Amino acid sequence: MEVCGGHTMAIQKFGIPSLLPQNIELLSGPGCPVCVTDKWFIDKAIALSQLPDVIITTFGDLIRVPGSYSTLENEKAKGNDIRIVYSPLDALSIALRDPSKKIVFLGIGFETTSPASAVAIAEAYKNNISNFSLLSAHKIMPPAMKALIHEGIKIDGYICPGHVSVITGTNMYVDIVDKFSVGCVIAGFEPTDLLHTILMLVNQIETSDPKLETQYRRAVKPEGNIKAKKFLDEVFELKDEWWRGFGIIPQSGFILTKKYKAFDTEKQFDISVPQPKEEKACICGEILKGLKTPHDCILFRKKCHPANPVGACMVSSEGACQAYFKYQQE
Ligand code: SF4
Repeated sequence: MEVCGGHTMAIQKFGIPSLLPQNIELLSGPGCPVCVTDKWFIDKAIALSQLPDVIITTFGDLIRVPGSYSTLENEKAKGNDIRIVYSPLDALSIALRDPSKKIVFLGIGFETTSPASAVAIAEAYKNNISNFSLLSAHKIMPPAMKALIHEGIKIDGYICPGHVSVITGTNMYVDIVDKFSVGCVIAGFEPTDLLHTILMLVNQIETSDPKLETQYRRAVKPEGNIKAKKFLDEVFELKDEWWRGFGIIPQSGFILTKKYKAFDTEKQFDISVPQPKEEKACICGEILKGLKTPHDCILFRKKCHPANPVGACMVSSEGACQAYFKYQQE
């Protein structure tokens, strides 16, 4: 199973499954940040966008993800101030330029994107920029990988995320090997990286020797990015977090530490929204757990396609449904 949206896309784009023997099955896991972000988060962001003097700032993909009744894109079309940024620091600049507005940054993604949110919060604190806040759905990867094994999903080896591991280093997968005897290989994104990674996992399985290996050695250091990790430790602590398809996974998300609580959107605003309304036919949750593929969804290529995405997995450029839509034949 791959647990990185970049790998999901690369595997489909380069036709990797078609190069493998039939006894090797590749599963897509919960690696797309937009896809695992739950509907409740979108509903909260929409509710915030409807408040006076609030500017919502977000990465691009998120604005098309359906909430229970609308999308951020629709709310933007109605005139709500929702802006796409390339970095949380861009959002902080907006806060600096316009102190009469309250700037909310929608923080999604794993250990790859959360350091940038941490830096923005630390800067806001240092410069006393009180009209900036973070609505955090940031997550960490290992608890979801363990949750899949706990649920009994048969995974013989993990293709571990390259970008996440550049930040975290290699140690965070040790438990998965030691406690569950599931091999982990940290992979790069070129077709040869992925084929090499699969070969490394096959060798582990054939020799009954599950271990942690790094294929993506040109980018991943055992210790990771120490500076980025320092920011994460300083600004965030772990909390129980909702994942689409999984529900709550204990200690799998990031929340601001006491020192930075004033920058927590949920502390700055009262944003209680009702429980989300799910689209019953969408099986994104099961796809994110490797239980089904997009071909199993009755809406795939019919009602649901990139121009009219019904679920997050079709919205995101890292989502399994969009990858299958783009790169697999009908
Ligand atoms: Fe959901 Fe669309 Fe994927 Fe079906 S094809 S699982 S509706 S995102």
